[in-house]
Amino acid sequence: MWFRVTGAMKQAFFPTRCLVCGSFFRNNGQENRSLKTFLRILVNREQGFFGLEGLSQDIDLTKDNVKECLVTDAKIFVELMSPFICAKCSGTYMAVESPLCSTCGVVFESREGEDHDCGECLNTPKRFRMARSAGVYDKVLIAAVHCLKYKEKIQLARPLGVLLFMAFCRYWNKGNLNLIVPIPLHKKKIRSRGFNTSFLLVKEWAFIAKTLNGALPVIPVAEDILVRKRWTEPQTGLGRKERLKNIKNAFDVSDSSKVKGKKILLVDDVYTTGATVNECAKVLMKAGAACVDVLTLARAM
Ligand SMILES: [Zn+2]
Ligand SMILES: [Zn+2]
Repeated sequence: MWFRVTGAMKQAFFPTRCLVCGSFFRNNGQENRSLKTFLRILVNREQGFFGLEGLSQDIDLTKDNVKECLVTDAKIFVELMSPFICAKCSGTYMAVESPLCSTCGVVFESREGEDHDCGECLNTPKRFRMARSAGVYDKVLIAAVHCLKYKEKIQLARPLGVLLFMAFCRYWNKGNLNLIVPIPLHKKKIRSRGFNTSFLLVKEWAFIAKTLNGALPVIPVAEDILVRKRWTEPQTGLGRKERLKNIKNAFDVSDSSKVKGKKILLVDDVYTTGATVNECAKVLMKAGAACVDVLTLARAM
């Protein structure tokens, strides 16, 4: 009780400044669920992924009512971001939803029908098995990714990492994959930025696993298996053809024995044309990976 009062008082005197629009807003402490509650909702919603046998005692599914199970991704986004982004900004979030391309995950304009392969994937088969994303790279998600990547708002890594994890649970089964590989940056880039966004997001999964107390298999993250062997110009602003040329032969596998026979999940922040992840998948498959899937936080349309 005391914490709630102090939390409300703190909010009254020190409202939060929205990281996106810069306006001050009041973050209603009572409506603000803890991350643990979110994860409980998630476990409840994605029972096919978690199963019930692996749950620990302190994740009490009976506490979650049916209404909570039906919370949409868009609503979850608003709440997850509420300590940092105002509801008006975060309300522009769009989750990636079917119908989409079964391979590259592009969202079809028509909102009717089943998932199927898009023309692009049929014409030029991909080196990865499937790519999926959490949200559409638009408005608030563009702003959030920029805040994290270029303005060093590291506090966004946790809610965005949870968002990424939600997409993972939706599209993959527990035990389906055995290695997570974040798309690497060039050493020079790491030095100037100080961190790799993809690695930062996926690192949060260790926190999620800890919170869920054994309900989640810990998939090892290999930060150093894939390396950028040459400097590439940023892909931003380049067309599809230039992107392909720019990224060709940019990656290498440092130790193929660690890749051999592995079912790998490549993780990146944004999927634009897929040139980068496809090139990485090519290199990993050449090194003997059993299969490569792709998960990104955002999907450019
Ligand atoms: Zn705002
Ligand atoms: Zn496709």
